[in-house]
Amino acid sequence: MFKLDQSPQNSQRNWLLKALTVVVVVLSFYGCNAIKSLGSNPSGEALQKIEALPNYKNGQFQNLDQSVQHTTATTSRTRSKETRWLRLLKFLAGQPKELLPSKPLIAIDTDLVNTTYDKPTVVWFGHSSFLLKAGAANILVDPSFSGFAGPFKGAIKAFAGSNVYDERDMPVLDALVISHDHYDHLDYLTVKRLRHKIKRVIVPIGVGSHFLRWGFPANIITELNWNDSLQLTNSITITATPAHHRSNRTLETRKTLWASYVIRADGYKIFYSGDTGYSNHFKLIGGQYGPFDLALMECGQYNVKWPFSHMFPHQTAQAAIDVGAAMTIPVHWGKYAESDHGWNESINLYKKAVDSLKVPVLVPFIGMPYTVGTTVEISDWWNYF
Ligand SMILES: [Zn+2]
Repeated sequence: MFKLDQSPQNSQRNWLLKALTVVVVVLSFYGCNAIKSLGSNPSGEALQKIEALPNYKNGQFQNLDQSVQHTTATTSRTRSKETRWLRLLKFLAGQPKELLPSKPLIAIDTDLVNTTYDKPTVVWFGHSSFLLKAGAANILVDPSFSGFAGPFKGAIKAFAGSNVYDERDMPVLDALVISHDHYDHLDYLTVKRLRHKIKRVIVPIGVGSHFLRWGFPANIITELNWNDSLQLTNSITITATPAHHRSNRTLETRKTLWASYVIRADGYKIFYSGDTGYSNHFKLIGGQYGPFDLALMECGQYNVKWPFSHMFPHQTAQAAIDVGAAMTIPVHWGKYAESDHGWNESINLYKKAVDSLKVPVLVPFIGMPYTVGTTVEISDWWNYF
């Protein structure tokens, strides 16, 4: 049996040793999670299959519309003139104070396990995370419940009040659907904690490699290229459709695909834009799969520095028209500040744009169920700094 030397020098050394052990354990725990969260890009046979795809060239996945970079750059440059000086001033003054909400966001407490609805119903959890309940089926899209967006804590933190739902609130999932491998859409800690509830993982092609690295069995992972479909149940079909974006969890970019999704459920059609810049893919999707009863549209984290990766709010409004949306819910806002605009700026600009274009919009509270085909009156709850 060991006995510790209790002399003053040695008890000080023991104390230091214990403290060091705690630090090493904590660092290796977070370090291990951070390293694991990097995932793994496709290699070997999986990469060979990808290299044969028409949308993979020169070692990278390619966007559908190669011309959009020039035209969008021109548009955004023209449009950003009015705000350029304001943005410069904000930059010089540091982050704008309205970047983060001054008080916790309001969230509705909904029982997601025991409540059923007679038509497809969507519950938004902030940013781009939402649950679709259709009949007895549950489909969870881009869940980000760890409270941060990035490979480690302390990266981009969730707004106060926005991270009230997590894995424990989720029902058994018929499908986990991921739009692309960026950290704010594919959250390692969330999927790790959800693992035992997930029956099937549906991802754009290449993203399955991350799940394999994290120990998910290959037989529950379905990888889709654009316009590939999976019949999930008799009444639910999920189709991956194009988006104009990119992917990466490390410095290697575009090694896995990014997508939007068309979900046909119980005779209703729902569109989720994923992360995307504005391009002609919306018109193509509208023509091929639309119109839609509901579209969850990216609306936030735009910036003149990355005008092709995310849409400005007036582009989101145009995209909603392009796909033929009878109702829109803006997403990719309300949880993380990933650009330099005010936390609710995108919603106010989007509301203005869609009101003039006569596109219906609902800005739900976090956790508030919205049933497709219904009309909901709701106050401008987000209108504060
Ligand atoms: Zn992204």
